[in-house]
Amino acid sequence: MAQRNQIESYLDTLLDVGRFKDYGPNGLQVEGRAELRRIVSGVTASRALIDAAITAGADAILVHHGLFWRGQDGRLVGWLGERVRRLMAHGINLFAYHLPLDAHPELGNNAQLGARLGLFADARFGEQDLGFAAPAGENGSLAALAGRVQAALGGRAPLVLPGDGRALARIGWCTGGAQGYFEAAIGAGVDAFLTGEVSEPQAHLARETGVAFLACGHHATECFGAPAVAAHLAEQFGLEHRFIEIANPA
Ligand SMILES: [Zn+2]
Repeated sequence: MAQRNQIESYLDTLLDVGRFKDYGPNGLQVEGRAELRRIVSGVTASRALIDAAITAGADAILVHHGLFWRGQDGRLVGWLGERVRRLMAHGINLFAYHLPLDAHPELGNNAQLGARLGLFADARFGEQDLGFAAPAGENGSLAALAGRVQAALGGRAPLVLPGDGRALARIGWCTGGAQGYFEAAIGAGVDAFLTGEVSEPQAHLARETGVAFLACGHHATECFGAPAVAAHLAEQFGLEHRFIEIANPA
């Protein structure tokens, strides 16, 4: 068992939240009961995850995508009101860590995805150092890299924009919606870049720079950080932990 306040300050320190400029508040977003025994982790604080956490008897949920983002008008109505009402009615604490959870060097989304691909970062790039880069290791060809990605992500095949067919010496990656980091990755000298999403300009950039681009799914690339942090917490504080996957094709 642990106190909510203890968990909150432990997470804020572990994930170094003060270092990041983010799109929403990191940390405790909805305050529930003061004592925690059981924690559920997930990718997004969706209604489906909240309902599953209620069924699981959770005292807290830890997610990557919380409820509040810059640009929202702030009213707790409609779908957002429903999410908050369910959390509060059941006394469930919601902890959400966005960029700090991408960036943590061992437990974060980037590090955890990299480890599953045999990629161990020796350099960082891009805004707030969120991009990771590593020697390709066994991912020396685009086919090998795409195959390992597919195996690591439960069989989901990435969308591959081939570059100029070169052997891959260095790979860059950043989980989620980091297609805007492609140029920074190219600047950092990688031969292929992988992230969750793709937009129109990346196809041209891949053709014109020769650097391959792989879109592997926003949700799919961000499934590993929250459970890694929650499992660490569970071990430190003697909590029960369960990751609940809410499938998302996007
Ligand atoms: Zn994301």
